[in-house]
Amino acid sequence: MGVIVIRCPKSGEEISTGIEIEPEGLLRLPPVTSETVCPLCGEVHAWRPRQARVAELPIEKICVARAAMAKSGNDSPDESTPLEGA
Ligand SMILES: [Zn+2]
Repeated sequence: MGVIVIRCPKSGEEISTGIEIEPEGLLRLPPVTSETVCPLCGEVHAWRPRQARVAELPIEKICVARAAMAKSGNDSPDESTPLEGA
């Protein structure tokens, strides 16, 4: 499982959309435009699946919009996460 990240056009940094998805799942998304509030510049960025990529969790470099998501008690690691093969 990973999370969809997009690139902020203002800062050039990647940001998390907060959308968790399987890496292959991104390819199956319909080509619709989604919107994400950017935690870096505060603006709403419209993006399409082709502009996004899936980053594997946990994400350290990427700012996660935790405040916007208001998740609670969901910090336990997922034991079903596959190991990276050589
Ligand atoms: Zn931004």
